[in-house]
Amino acid sequence: MSDTVRPVASHYINGHYVEDRAGTPIPVIYPASGAEIARVHAATPEIVEQALAAAQAAQAEWAALSGRERGRILTDAARIIRSRNNELSVLETWDTGKPLQETLVADATSGADALEYFGGLAASLTGEHIQLGADWVYTIREALGVCVGIGAWNYPTQIACWKAAPALACGNTMVFKPSEQTPLCALKIADILTEAGAPPGVFNVVQGMGEVGGALVADPRVAKVSLTGSVPTGRRVYAAAAAQMKHVTMELGGKSPLVIFDDADLDNAVGGAINGNFYSSGQICSNGTRVFVQRGIKEAFLARLAERLKDAVIGDPLDEATSFGPMVSERQMNIVLSYIEKGQAEGARLVSGGQRIDLPGWYLEPTVFADVTDEMTIAREEIFGPVMSVLDFDDEDEVIARANATEFGLSAGVFTRDLARGHRVIGKLQAGSCFINSYNDAPVEAPFGGVKASGVGRENAKAAIEHYSQQKSVYVRMGDVEAPF
Ligand code: NDP
Repeated sequence: MSDTVRPVASHYINGHYVEDRAGTPIPVIYPASGAEIARVHAATPEIVEQALAAAQAAQAEWAALSGRERGRILTDAARIIRSRNNELSVLETWDTGKPLQETLVADATSGADALEYFGGLAASLTGEHIQLGADWVYTIREALGVCVGIGAWNYPTQIACWKAAPALACGNTMVFKPSEQTPLCALKIADILTEAGAPPGVFNVVQGMGEVGGALVADPRVAKVSLTGSVPTGRRVYAAAAAQMKHVTMELGGKSPLVIFDDADLDNAVGGAINGNFYSSGQICSNGTRVFVQRGIKEAFLARLAERLKDAVIGDPLDEATSFGPMVSERQMNIVLSYIEKGQAEGARLVSGGQRIDLPGWYLEPTVFADVTDEMTIAREEIFGPVMSVLDFDDEDEVIARANATEFGLSAGVFTRDLARGHRVIGKLQAGSCFINSYNDAPVEAPFGGVKASGVGRENAKAAIEHYSQQKSVYVRMGDVEAPF
């Protein structure tokens, strides 16, 4: 382990690392060994106060810069991230246990994409002019103020950047709280933003559990809350934000359908199902964990899947050859194991995996259940681990109705060679982020987010600008005012 893994201090406030050992200690556990690799401290009320005060003090001046000036800082941060991709990817691997093979291409790089994209957009954020005869209206796109970002543990760098980039581009400042399970990466992003020229207080990071998040959400200085987390946490945070009429973005969980028709390219469909269930050891919100396979190709699909699963390289995440790593924590591993037990108890057919792997750390086998039916627990609840449920279907209308019979609506995918059918089916699936003949691509140019219980608002793309800014409209009368008396 290099020294760069150990954070300089627990928090990053007003352009500096800040420590306060009075806060509850949070051990940072490397998921591939179970060893403690660092320790941070949860934010005390004083730390929360410092961070919010810094963000509030910085906001007006930050918003007063031109979009071009703000954008240049964000794109400079993106450049620094890219130049340090290797170091940041290794850190992401220590923080999450995800294989370096993934983190080298999916984490710091996608964070840089977001900073680059919104950095580029910042200069073009404008209001509009609306002519009304002689009179006219103009609109001003304003920042919301101080934003709070709260992250999940699966993509700590990406989540910090996906929230910071649009927020800062629009002239907001942010206090970000990572998941207490992955506290390291966001600190580096804060440090890099400072190096790129972000003024003190523009992006701050405080550590802690849900109660720190709760304190941030409840503070009246905060104008907006963006959460990435589970649906139950989303309900709590949304309700707390609503009490003070705050803006929200909610990126929550899912139980997304991946529909494979019998005319699909089998290898591509199997590849999509692997990406949509086993990347990041299945710890991805948008995963297509209900794999509906048309009955005619079911056995061929399962056979090809079993063959390809043999190629998974399970082991040391820091070895670039490894393609499948551990779960983030012992707790998460046990949650997933309990779902595997439920799957077996409720009559699903275990066709691959299902066991803990005899390695140090929290490794589970990639697991596939066949003959899963809609009412089984593993088909209804988000597992957030490497467990694929394969369900049979016969026709299009049936699969659409069954795919939509869930409270979730984050993602959906369709594999078919009949493109008309692909578009028709995707059009009827209730989901925010969809894929045809692919799964889990999330470029910054595409809006990302869910419908129904899976979320509110969108991250990425121009859509995110609407969630980090508001419009002031100004009516300008050019003549006399007519009044009734
Ligand atoms: P949680 O919902 O448990 O936690 C999310 C974050 O919210 C954590 O930082 C947590 O703190 C914090 N938190 C918990 N309670 C509160 C509260 N009352 N007030 C404010 N903040 C609070 O999610 P996980 O971290 O377990 O992440 C997994 C979940 O995230 C899955 O459901 C997954 O689908 C979802 N997710 C959604 C994504 C999306 O974009 N739609 C992407 C990635 C994940 P702490 O944990 O430190 O106590």
